[in-house]
Amino acid sequence: MENVDRPFPPGQYDVVVVGSGPGGLQTSHCLTQLGVEHAVISQDEAPGGMFRRFPIFERLISWTKPDAPVERGTREYEWYDHNSLLGDAGAQALAPEFMDRSFDVPSRAEMEAALVAFTERAGVQVRYGCRWTGTRRDDDGGFVLETDDGEYACRFAVFAIGVTQPWVPSIRGSELAAHYVETRPASSYRDKRVVIIGKRNSAFEVGNGLLPWAKELTLVSPRPVQLELLPQSPLRLRYLQPYEEYVRGGAGTFVVDAAIEQIERSNGGLRVVAEGTTWPGRLEFDADDVILATGFKAPLQDLRELGVTTVLNDRIPALNPFFESISAPGLFFAGNITAGSRGIRKHGVGPNSTSVNGFRYNARVLAEHVAERLGIERPRPSVDRADVVPFLLRELSCAPELWIQKTFLGRVVSVTDGGLRDEGIVPLEHFLDAGGPDAVCVAIEMDPKAVIYPAVYVRRGGRITEHELPTHPVHAFRGSEYAREVEAILAAARF
Ligand SMILES: Cc1cc2nc3c(=O)[nH]c(=O)nc-3n(C[C@H](O)[C@H](O)[C@H](O)COP(=O)(O)OP(=O)(O)OC[C@H]3O[C@@H](n4cnc5c(N)ncnc54)[C@H](O)[C@@H]3O)c2cc1C
Repeated sequence: MENVDRPFPPGQYDVVVVGSGPGGLQTSHCLTQLGVEHAVISQDEAPGGMFRRFPIFERLISWTKPDAPVERGTREYEWYDHNSLLGDAGAQALAPEFMDRSFDVPSRAEMEAALVAFTERAGVQVRYGCRWTGTRRDDDGGFVLETDDGEYACRFAVFAIGVTQPWVPSIRGSELAAHYVETRPASSYRDKRVVIIGKRNSAFEVGNGLLPWAKELTLVSPRPVQLELLPQSPLRLRYLQPYEEYVRGGAGTFVVDAAIEQIERSNGGLRVVAEGTTWPGRLEFDADDVILATGFKAPLQDLRELGVTTVLNDRIPALNPFFESISAPGLFFAGNITAGSRGIRKHGVGPNSTSVNGFRYNARVLAEHVAERLGIERPRPSVDRADVVPFLLRELSCAPELWIQKTFLGRVVSVTDGGLRDEGIVPLEHFLDAGGPDAVCVAIEMDPKAVIYPAVYVRRGGRITEHELPTHPVHAFRGSEYAREVEAILAAARF
């Protein structure tokens, strides 16, 4: 009876995936497509992960265009739809199905509904109500995950456990404030002076949500908003109304660059004491409420004791290009934790791995890599020499993986047995660092001035050459001038 009602009883599996947010669901689907035997467990009672309760003010920042010049459900359409998971026929492009089009971004509830539908239509099975509580290595080089249902032994574990535990830097008096996750309904801030500590998306989301209610709103953190760097920054304009009010000199809304010294009690309320960063001086802000929108960390439990090292103030694990811990092989991470794989950061541009649009492709790369480690080779179709230039230009023009994961994922064609083979989507860092047969890799990149351009990397005799092609005002990288350039690059490399 137990097996019928709840899949994946404790036992031995090749892979165990923890988490039923978009990261866990996408990874499970990709593993299934490749024929990798695995279990999925989650402490939740239903699919959706973080989107079952966040964003607090119920509107996402990532867009989906229900109508596009390409057909819904095609690979090209993914470029227009940043919220749907990647599924087979029937389970593709689900986010637009649930959007009422009052905005170009889904509501939290619409996103949750799309994830529930994906689970049903893609047939993703999850053992809900099963919490991972501890981890140890077994004698065969694998792992045992302890859960409140029993033990799961596996060769590889994939943790898609999200990054939603409150993270607070050391600020004296921070216990007097509430974290983002404890934000109350907006109406309870009516007529209050609210100080929000932080200037990232979650800070501006709360600020934007409280504009109609609070009588005074101040966002404070050391670093300034740098709109000129917007294309390279995770900050989204969607929530920036408080910033606009401030820079236009509107009354009652402030966005201040200052390092917080302490939060203290004062006159029956609170006071935030801060030292200016982009200007000299000290400021004190009286407040009825202080909200810490200082970020989140991954609930890693005992993984550090197994050797998992971390980045970004100990908030997420340090990962290699295939999203495996750099220090504890066999432990993989999916979902927005994949931001721990930093990529080559050429021109300072990092991956887009904290949102669904980017990590859905990371999940596919991870699944293909895990499958190969388990001995399941994926097909590498041959490419005719005459077709290779149009093939690469088509990728540069509209491959969603390349356009969303700029400078991070590339499309590779390699030379093997005298023929050309499509190696699929590959982490650019791996292509550049790992060596291998002669091959070409194309990627979309962004220069320091945020100009988007196509790049071609050629590996010949183990040596890499790099070619940055010109940009185009409407990013039309398929024209004859690009064909000539790519042909010349390949000919010079004797491809
Ligand atoms: C305020 C906020 C707003 C955001 N807005 C957007 C947006 O608009 N668009 C976007 O693309 N991204 C957004 N994100 C990023 C967002 O977190 C991810 O896109 C997405 O939710 C991450 O998916 P995930 O599967 O990695 O993690 P989550 O959705 O957080 O899911 C983690 C899963 O792991 C489970 N889990 C954790 N620990 C255990 C355990 N010990 N045992 C068993 N199960 C466990 C959880 O219960 C959950 O099911 C936002 C993030 C925040 C914090």
